[in-house]
Amino acid sequence: MLKTEKYEDLTIITTGRGFLGAYIYPVYSYLLDDLLIDTGTTICRNQLLDFLDDKVIKIIVNTHAHEDHVGNNAILNERRDITLYAHREAIKRIENPALLDLRRYQKFTWGVPQSSKPSEIPSEIKTKSHLLEVIHTPGHCPGHICLYEPTKKWLFSGDLHVGKLSLEVQPFENLLQIMTSLEILTNYEVKEIFCAHLGHIPNGNMVLQNKLAFLKNAKEHAEKLYSEHLSLKEITNQIAGKETIMKVITKGHMSKLNGIKSLLQMQ
Ligand SMILES: [Zn+2]
Repeated sequence: MLKTEKYEDLTIITTGRGFLGAYIYPVYSYLLDDLLIDTGTTICRNQLLDFLDDKVIKIIVNTHAHEDHVGNNAILNERRDITLYAHREAIKRIENPALLDLRRYQKFTWGVPQSSKPSEIPSEIKTKSHLLEVIHTPGHCPGHICLYEPTKKWLFSGDLHVGKLSLEVQPFENLLQIMTSLEILTNYEVKEIFCAHLGHIPNGNMVLQNKLAFLKNAKEHAEKLYSEHLSLKEITNQIAGKETIMKVITKGHMSKLNGIKSLLQMQ
C-alpha cells in the first residue's frame, strides 16, 4: 500500500503492508527536490516505482541499513543514474543484507532487500534548493544518520523513534547511544521532525527533549530498582508495564525487557 502527501515542497511517501486499508507498520520515505531519503519496503516495489516514474531522482540517502529503509535501492539504482549514500558503518549490511539476520516477522512485514552498493555519505547533501547537514546518530543501529535542513529547521530522524515514548525495542538497539544521539540533536533548532515510522511531527525540539527525558528517567529508575535486587522482569513491569502482543508476534525479538536490559547495559 502506498500513499503520498505534500508538506511545502517535500513529498511524504508512505509504504508498507496494508490490512483493511490501514498500515500494519508504515514506513515513510521523503522526496525533496531530486533527493530521496530511504527507499521503503520491497512489499510496495511496483507502486513506488510507478509513483517515482516521472520524478527526477539524483541522490538516494539511506538513514540506516535496515530492510524497511533500503528495500528499493537496487531497483532504483539499476534503472537510473543515481548516487546512493549511507554512513560508512552501514555500507556492509546494505551490500550484504544477509548480515541483517532477518526474522520471519521482519521478512513478512517488510520483505528482504536486494544488495546495493552505497558510497560513504559526505558531511552535506545538496539538492536544487536545499542544503542538508548529515548528523551521525547511532543507537538504533550502527551507522544511523539524521539529515538536518537548517533553513527550514527540518530534521529527518530515521529510526530514532523520537515521537514514541516506549522501551519496547529490538535487541540490537542501544538506548544509551540513542540518548547521546538525542543530546547532540537538542543542540539544533528543530521545528519539524520527519520520522521514518510516524511521519511529520511538529514541535521538534520539545519532542526531542521529551524523548531524552523519558529515557533518562527510565534509566535512573531501572538502576535504582536493580540496586534493590529486583529481577529484570519485575523492573520491566514496574517501569514499562506488561509486555504487549509484539513480544509474542516477534517471538521475543521486540520487547520491553530488551529496553530495560539496554538501559542497564546487559545486552
Ligand atoms: Zn530501523
